[in-house]
Amino acid sequence: MKQGILPEYDYDVVIIGGGPAGYTAGIYAARAALKTLLIEGEGTVSQITITDIIENYPGIPEGIGGFELMQLFKKQALKFGLEILPKDVNGIKKSSSAQVVWEVTTGGKVFKTLSIIAATGAMWRNLDVPGESEFVGRGVSYCATCDGPFYRNRDVIVVGGGDTAIQEALFLTHFAKKVIVVHRRDRLRAAGMLQERAFAEKKIEFVWNSTVSEITGADFVTGVKVKNVQTGGLSEISADGIFIFVGRLPYTEIFKGLVEMDKTGFIITDENMRTNAAGLFAAGDCRAKLFRQVVTAAGDGANAVHSAELYIDEVKGRTY
Ligand code: NAP
Repeated sequence: MKQGILPEYDYDVVIIGGGPAGYTAGIYAARAALKTLLIEGEGTVSQITITDIIENYPGIPEGIGGFELMQLFKKQALKFGLEILPKDVNGIKKSSSAQVVWEVTTGGKVFKTLSIIAATGAMWRNLDVPGESEFVGRGVSYCATCDGPFYRNRDVIVVGGGDTAIQEALFLTHFAKKVIVVHRRDRLRAAGMLQERAFAEKKIEFVWNSTVSEITGADFVTGVKVKNVQTGGLSEISADGIFIFVGRLPYTEIFKGLVEMDKTGFIITDENMRTNAAGLFAAGDCRAKLFRQVVTAAGDGANAVHSAELYIDEVKGRTY
């Protein structure tokens, strides 16, 4: 490396993840004329693309399907010339020859970049009870949009009390005869408006203060065993399907050891999406924060690019 010359690199920014945070970052970075590559997983399904309807994304008063919204994000990013690569990232490290350069590996190919935006999102959390893994695809589901239509005129159980559980319980009433929400407390975590709708929906019943201890069945699910957490009493509920919506876990395995995370593995950032690793930013559901929405993910993506831009300017102005 010659004195005064920035080490070789391919991109100003590599964005990892193809959800709302990643694509918003892609739109902002490409529009800012940063040399940008967005790498989105080959097989991974973004949570938003399996979300039936998004009613609270500003500017779309009639609501929009999750898949449809992502197609619009992508169209907008492509308009600004974003380069997109559908590959899984296998490794990330700092270049051994130049500390300001990160190396991102996908299928043997190495991309050198001055900055990375982690926008890898999160995945559904398992309940971790007997019967859960055995009956996946045979009555256990994590996606009402995908599997709801299989339960026409059947009884289903929804586990959880957050926005996802209640929104999906409402969606399942389009098909199911009865939707039984099993929640571990005596009140819901979900937003007030969702709660009002669920309480007004005749097809939805609630089993409060209860946890599922086992999912039972033979070839297919036939029901669950539940425990009342206050009395310790055990009971059984018959159902043809069980939909589990008990929160999320981050997709951050590839960043382990590179960056500070909380105990669940969410990446810790400051309010400007900067992590404790110089040149590595995080946005959207993969970062530690309170509120995970499409609109907050999009905001994170825009902020991450702004911080990356400031960082890149500073790096390019340094003497090497
Ligand atoms: P969440 O808000 O973390 O809620 C998880 C729910 O599962 C909680 O009710 C929790 O109970 C329960 N739970 C967790 N672990 C459990 C266990 N082991 N056994 C039984 N129950 C368990 O997750 P989420 O509903 O997926 O939402 C995640 C984020 O996405 C939130 O920020 C949410 O606002 C957002 N979101 C928004 C919308 C929307 O605006 N329309 C839709 C979907 C999601 P406790 O309540 O007792 O903790």
